[in-house]
Amino acid sequence: MKLYSTNNTDLRVPFKEAVFNSLPADKGLYMPEHIPVLDQEFISNLDKYTLPEIAFHVARTILNGAIPDNDLKAIVNDAINFEAPLVEISERVHVLELFHGPSLAFKDFGARFMSRVMSYFLEAGEKQLDVLVATSGDTGGAVALGFLGVPNVRVTILYPKGKVSPIQELQLTTNGQNIRAIEIDGTFDDCQALVKRAFNNPELKEKFRLTSANSINISRLIPQTFYYFNAYAQLLRNGIKEVVFSVPSGNFGNIGAGLLAFKMGLPVKQFLAATNVNDTVPEFLRTGVYRARPSVQTWSNAMDVGDPSNWVRIMDMFGDDRQELLKVLTAYSYNDEETLNAIKQVHSESGYIMCPHTAIAWLALKEWMNDHPADEAAGVFLSTAHPCKFPDIFPEEIGSGIVIPEQVKELEGREHLAVSLGKDFESFKSFLMKG
Ligand SMILES: *Cc1c(COP(=O)(O)O)cnc(C)c1O
Repeated sequence: MKLYSTNNTDLRVPFKEAVFNSLPADKGLYMPEHIPVLDQEFISNLDKYTLPEIAFHVARTILNGAIPDNDLKAIVNDAINFEAPLVEISERVHVLELFHGPSLAFKDFGARFMSRVMSYFLEAGEKQLDVLVATSGDTGGAVALGFLGVPNVRVTILYPKGKVSPIQELQLTTNGQNIRAIEIDGTFDDCQALVKRAFNNPELKEKFRLTSANSINISRLIPQTFYYFNAYAQLLRNGIKEVVFSVPSGNFGNIGAGLLAFKMGLPVKQFLAATNVNDTVPEFLRTGVYRARPSVQTWSNAMDVGDPSNWVRIMDMFGDDRQELLKVLTAYSYNDEETLNAIKQVHSESGYIMCPHTAIAWLALKEWMNDHPADEAAGVFLSTAHPCKFPDIFPEEIGSGIVIPEQVKELEGREHLAVSLGKDFESFKSFLMKG
């Protein structure tokens, strides 16, 4: 497998290099030079395979020999060791629950696969790998838990102070070992900017072997395609062949993976990009003007992104042609009040409790279904996190019904280990240089 940069399609690097670089030097994004299409036989028989089997077949096809089969199978089986069930909550409306991994968020798929791929490629005696990651909440927990205890790798996580939930903060700050957490007095965009500057800083690059674990890393994107295929497998078992996926979107990695699955041959009728008021992409699809801007804080804070870093990849997959993209992608945005009303409505109608990100995807699906009353496709909205990660949002009568998983309770007694820094680059840099 070879990858090019979206800023220079003549560049070609092997998978291993793209994984460790994360970003090409020209600041584009890595994309596979060729997106293979899975054979029809496999797609129409998806219902006969388990999630790890599907994951292995998809990964093997796209990696095209970059990791030998036996090693790849071991990586997939170790990384994808939890379920992604599809649950029908009302007529034709299904939720794809992606929160059954250790950090209770869909980011476990990407982070666990990536950490194992990196560890696989690290050779004995090589310089320690320093992973720098900016998180608005869920990435950090998934990456920390994914890399915890992995030899020869150190992880430094930046998160915006006061803008992540208590459970997210626990997952970020109670690890110790090879994981360092830094709270930044600023926004997620500030954290992301600090990480980007670190990658471009000559002294830091000289001293450390830096790599990113953000959703821009190609080894995080690939495993996120797995659950789209697996969702389709579950639909097939129920005799359903037409599907619309509604995806809660922030940095657009999740939906980017869905579109990659589509390009690999998954028959999807439509993708819905559901955002909160950080609506850079819905606005772009409407007007043709891409206007990056500072993020606005919302209750769905993992989607508070004003300049989604995976957007370039999506445009690249569609030949930078907005009209082509509009054939398969519709975007919607909702505010906090609409989000809360959706949570209440679904809870009162079905007893199902969704996290605020998930609620936005449900809203988009409902709106699409209302706009297409004659359409018979099944609707699948992706649930990206367990509701217990956002306890402040729920009214008491709903919140009291949320069952906290065991792995969270266990973190509660542990010590918090975080360093506090301002949002200026110099403080961050001197902190890094010390270590
Ligand atoms: C990260 C995250 C999102 C947004 O996913 P992107 O891939 O950045 O679009 C949505 N919901 C939750 C809970 C998340 O953690």
